[in-house]
Amino acid sequence: MNARAPKGTADMLPDVARAWEHMQRTAQRLFARYGYEPVYTPIFEHTEVFTRGIGEATDIVSKEMYTFEDKGGRSITLRPEGTASVVRATLEHNLVANGQSAKLYYAGPMFRYERPQKGRMRQFWQIGAEALGMAEPGIDAEVIVMLMRYFEELGIPRQNMRLLINTMGDENCRPAYRDKIAGFIREHSTALCEECNRRAETNPLRAFDCKNPGCKDVMSEAPLLRDELCDDCAAHYAAVKSSLDDLAISYIEDPSLVRGLDYYTRTVFEVQVDAGLGSQNAIGGGGRYDRLMEQYGGPATPGLGFALGFERTLLALEAAGVAILGHPVAEVYVARVDAALGGAVFALVQELRDAGIATETDYQGRSLKSQFKQADRLGARAVVIVGPDELAAGEVTMRDMTTKDESRIPLGEIAARLKQLLG
Ligand code: AMP
Repeated sequence: MNARAPKGTADMLPDVARAWEHMQRTAQRLFARYGYEPVYTPIFEHTEVFTRGIGEATDIVSKEMYTFEDKGGRSITLRPEGTASVVRATLEHNLVANGQSAKLYYAGPMFRYERPQKGRMRQFWQIGAEALGMAEPGIDAEVIVMLMRYFEELGIPRQNMRLLINTMGDENCRPAYRDKIAGFIREHSTALCEECNRRAETNPLRAFDCKNPGCKDVMSEAPLLRDELCDDCAAHYAAVKSSLDDLAISYIEDPSLVRGLDYYTRTVFEVQVDAGLGSQNAIGGGGRYDRLMEQYGGPATPGLGFALGFERTLLALEAAGVAILGHPVAEVYVARVDAALGGAVFALVQELRDAGIATETDYQGRSLKSQFKQADRLGARAVVIVGPDELAAGEVTMRDMTTKDESRIPLGEIAARLKQLLG
């Protein structure tokens, strides 16, 4: 058998898993201040949820989905992103019926069959937020601010991040613009790569996203949607920028920011970091998707949101020197002088745990010396030594691992003394 995790996946070992939990807790705390509630949707959906929502011609749907037929003959897909599922669930459970609105957030694994590289996995972890039922440009700014504050709260310095924004227009102004770009691609077909030429027929705006330097040069001369927006889209975009200005959130307008999903309308945004990430430098991004609910047969419902990637955020944190890894496993270690004292140790360990102290002990008959080593490895602040003489006197020895001071403490007082030491 092949005993390695599949290509593009990674085991989250304790240090990294702890960082993931820290990121989730930070999101819970921060997003709650903005009125967001948690939601969990299935990890797989009917394939149409993604083909309809994200768009057949996108890279995600055309190349990257993990799709299979289940035993009942249904086409099922492991979710490549969270928005489509949250919008499907919002419609299914009528969360925004009768003019209601909903603010929801989620965290979990996503699956895309991509070519793995640093910061690009086939199973990766995202935290995302979706605001449904709200059309006002103020909510666009609020969502962007929440994302920036989240990264700052984790410890990524503001100056390490670049916030890019753009507008994708809507059904009034985008179709004509798409045609214009398709025409532009055909006019410059010899200077553009094969993929971009294909995009003229399927998804012309994606040509802005081509990584090929030659294509980038050509596309930098293409007409900008910014100059072709309908009045409503122009007013919406201006209002979003003005709200960001009011909140002193600096941003860069990037007309080539198109993002890889068809459902976006109007505002799109992305947060990039240079240090530590290489070419996969987007740590989070999102946008507005006012037509997505209709794709699922629901009523016209405005919405917008973002998703941020755990792996890339962790790389950005490491590059910024933020240590969220490495955390003591045990506050207190109970060591025994000889194995025969197991019963007393067992009772003491349980008493300390019941008192709320993270306590560990030896289960492998280690020597006293190696018990101390183990205590160090686990990050214990104190070691309680249980020996036959002390025990006979109803006492134990407490060793402060920082100052190395030792003192004999009556058994009945040890939990309180340890709590005092741990603060
Ligand atoms: P997207 O859903 O494509 O807008 O991506 C949102 C965020 O998810 C990105 O900014 C990344 O941080 C993360 N992300 C997307 N795709 C991957 C991937 N294949 N591997 C790791 N992280 C990813």
